[in-house]
Amino acid sequence: MTFYGVRGSIPVPGADTQVFGGNTPCLCVQAEEALFLFDCGTGCIPLGRELLAKRSHHEIHILISHTHLDHIQGLPLFEPLYKKDYSIHLYGEDRCGLTLRQQLDRMMSPPLWPVGTEAFLANVHYHTLRAGQPFSIGGCAFETMRSHHPDECTLYRMTCGGKSLVYALDFEYDTQSSAALTAFAKDCDLLVYDAFYDDRAYPARQGFGHSTWQHGLQLSQACRAKRTAFAHLHPSRTDAELSAVQAEIARQDTRCFLAQERRELIL
Ligand SMILES: [Zn+2]
Ligand SMILES: [Zn+2]
Repeated sequence: MTFYGVRGSIPVPGADTQVFGGNTPCLCVQAEEALFLFDCGTGCIPLGRELLAKRSHHEIHILISHTHLDHIQGLPLFEPLYKKDYSIHLYGEDRCGLTLRQQLDRMMSPPLWPVGTEAFLANVHYHTLRAGQPFSIGGCAFETMRSHHPDECTLYRMTCGGKSLVYALDFEYDTQSSAALTAFAKDCDLLVYDAFYDDRAYPARQGFGHSTWQHGLQLSQACRAKRTAFAHLHPSRTDAELSAVQAEIARQDTRCFLAQERRELIL
């Protein structure tokens, strides 16, 4: 699995984001010959080009956590969607009375964007999920839970070949939500956790729907995750600042680290 985008809110290209990366969330997981994407932030744009160049994986499963722009803004530029020989499955919940496709069409409609989802040439299938209901794709099992975040965000637990990954971005901790996520992520091989803030920035942003890496360390230990990657990093954080955070995290718990764009992990 490889992170293609680890930033929250907005993409931040530039000289200060070369090491950790500037794209918004996209995590690519290869399992049992199938390809899964968690979210379609701007990180999915270079990934799409790579997939076309390699001509690999003509069936792609895309699991959307929610449709805040940073999690879907790469989708209109994900090139496999415009190729007839690709089958693309999009999974997500209804929100605000809109199906996933209608939510995407809100972003992809004039005057905000010139074309809608009808422009996709791939064989696109939309699958409606409901938080709390499990499902499976091929040999991979998925569980879902409602995040503590505005506008109904979905957290995923994927289990495949005896390994499990929990994707928990856009999650704010409090006593109740932390207990629920601790149970949901129990003994997972990798927890991907929201570390948009740190303990200094969080108090002024309480209720905005995000967490801190300090709380992530506690939650990681409570759920006994074998490894924990902190992602949805704040767009204002430079490589130098994040490197210092990384060193502090490593000092406190060597099983935890900041997610880095293009970093490959094998579970
Ligand atoms: Zn977000
Ligand atoms: Zn969000």
